[in-house]
Amino acid sequence: MSSQDRLIWFKGALMPAAEAEVPVLSPTAQFGLNVFEGLRGYWNSARQDVFLFRMDDHLARLAASCRLIGIQSPYTTDQIAKAMREVLQANTYREDIAVRVTLFVDGEGTWSSIEPVDMFVAPIAKPRRDTAKTSGVRACISTWERIDDRNIPPRIKAGANYINGRYAHLEAQAAGYDLPILLDRSGKVSEGAGSCLMMVRDGVLVTPPVTASILESITRDTLLQLAAAMDFPIKTRVIDRTELYLASEVFLCGSAAEITPVTSVDRYTIGSGKIGPLTQRLLERYLAVASGQEDVGEAAWCAPVWQV
Ligand code: PMP
Repeated sequence: MSSQDRLIWFKGALMPAAEAEVPVLSPTAQFGLNVFEGLRGYWNSARQDVFLFRMDDHLARLAASCRLIGIQSPYTTDQIAKAMREVLQANTYREDIAVRVTLFVDGEGTWSSIEPVDMFVAPIAKPRRDTAKTSGVRACISTWERIDDRNIPPRIKAGANYINGRYAHLEAQAAGYDLPILLDRSGKVSEGAGSCLMMVRDGVLVTPPVTASILESITRDTLLQLAAAMDFPIKTRVIDRTELYLASEVFLCGSAAEITPVTSVDRYTIGSGKIGPLTQRLLERYLAVASGQEDVGEAAWCAPVWQV
């Protein structure tokens, strides 16, 4: 199915993506005035279903983003969950997918408009990665500073926040790296342009705190819980730039990134220059848990699309 033929849920109706249009003068088009969530759905062939990973937590974060950016969703959380299932079923998806849920300020207005708010839910086909062939990325520390709670709060998942990541991403690519890592305003490690960061140092899995100008990532939370359950020591603390150069493993994580190994930072090779042992174990465990193949006693983490 081409992306244009794919059905999306747009303002209460299912329609081909090509027919879903927002006005050019809308605040979402002009100022990026929208909040969104990016979820993954994993196909589980044994259970013949697609499981949306931590759907409730994504919808709770969407509600928090609305509250902070000053808009009200015209849809309840249950209605949004129903819209997600409807659009995935309408496309007859029985495969791994990504889903984007966006609440946007529609109509004609400006950056201070608070209404009208509407929604689209767009599925995007996303084949499963081969965990045995996961290679790493070469990262650099960006000269761009991560946005901050005193100007554009990073814990809101707003479209406009991504312009900060865009600057860092373009700079990294122009300098011959794959991805940037941003520092916060105090010069400590924050996160990637669209993912959180973790490192292994002296046998401990370390990640910056939620006050380090990061998005409160659901994958980060999942991995901290999985590592703890594997009896791997974890610590949430401030990280210095040069600690990354000395780390034995570094990886980025997020719903889209899943676990992306970082094999060098500023051309300092990390560990063996290949995916590290804990990163590999966590990646396999994460995908098994997210696709409902392994149970961690968190039934609510895997929301079925078909057999509700
Ligand atoms: N930080 C940023 C800036 C992101 O865009 C994302 C992706 N949503 C993440 C972190 C990871 O968040 P999550 O694990 O909830 O997808």
